[in-house]
Amino acid sequence: MPESSIVVRPEPMESGSYTASSRLQAAGLRDAIKLFEEAAAAVPVPRLPQPFVIADYGASTGHNSLLPIGAAIAVLRKRTRTDHPTLVVHTDVPGNDFTALFRTLAEDPDTYLSKDAAAFASVIGRSFYSQIMPSSSVNLGWSSWAIHWLSRVPGPIPDHLHVAYSSDERVRDAYARQAAQDWQEFIAFRGRELCRGGRLLVVTAAVDEDGDSGYRPLLGALIDTIDELVAERLLTTDEVYRMGIPIVGRRESDFLAPFAPKGRFEQLEIEHLQIFDAGDRFWQQYEVDGNADVFGAQWAAFCRAAVFPTLVGALECAAGDPRPTTVIDRLEAGLATRLAAAPEKTRIPMAYLVLAKRPKTT
Ligand code: SAH
Repeated sequence: MPESSIVVRPEPMESGSYTASSRLQAAGLRDAIKLFEEAAAAVPVPRLPQPFVIADYGASTGHNSLLPIGAAIAVLRKRTRTDHPTLVVHTDVPGNDFTALFRTLAEDPDTYLSKDAAAFASVIGRSFYSQIMPSSSVNLGWSSWAIHWLSRVPGPIPDHLHVAYSSDERVRDAYARQAAQDWQEFIAFRGRELCRGGRLLVVTAAVDEDGDSGYRPLLGALIDTIDELVAERLLTTDEVYRMGIPIVGRRESDFLAPFAPKGRFEQLEIEHLQIFDAGDRFWQQYEVDGNADVFGAQWAAFCRAAVFPTLVGALECAAGDPRPTTVIDRLEAGLATRLAAAPEKTRIPMAYLVLAKRPKTT
């Protein structure tokens, strides 16, 4: 692989629009919340005056964390005094819009801070591919839609935007190695941070039993739009060569690999592993109302918030150049038009995992 493989991602999400455009992520949350409630019921509670610590890894604006964390606190309250302090720690990369996160915590109608007088919030702006909390300090962890972002880009994907659809074996191998290393490190550090008996719930992209990574209609429409922008000279072929989405889905065997052969890794065990199709909510709505324009616009807004900032990271332009914004607007418009012209259901393979740290042996 080229030596130029350096840490460049992830670009911060477009924060203003992330909350508004993340309904897709939010929609898949119901079953995850149930698993999180079960975990909250099962973990040991520290003795007063130690707070109960909940960590949220890859929080973005925090909007989609409020319901799961609120649900876990509600379960906890059945097990603790009402004044037992709960400390929630939201983490993300340094470039995340933490102002948006603070606003969510203060103003969102679902904020747990207004529902529980003994709940406190804090944030950490460091990548979760290192230890970011003290050892044995986290009772309950949550991470949704975050750990499919690789810690670094192993190199360009010359023939596609998503490595799963590249026909270049060397590129695929390099991404697979990085994905394996990132998963191993993510869980190793979480294994240290968790208290004995603590639990971590992970919601992340997967590869389904047919070997499908999903998102085909979106990626196809996106590549068509990019070609159009190259023809119009709004993008150069060099820039397109560097464009890629450093997201990986993992197979069941990828999740299990670090736990072989005894089912244990860094004192962690997998309590639950489930791969499923998260369901295309925009398609379901389209089936009811037949409104293709809304269908296209919703998927395009989702992509704008989730991946366009990363794509325009490949643009070579001076600070203040309006081109990235123009490109983002055009990508959104092109995607919306194409998807509206030929609505198609998108497959969204996802995984839920619950990891548990072994309790104290007596
Ligand atoms: N948890 C939210 C947000 C998901 S968006 C939800 O379910 O909707 C993905 C988030 O993961 C982004 O905010 C991104 O910055 C963050 N992220 C990606 N890589 C990360 C890393 N290495 N460390 C911390 N956060 C990361």
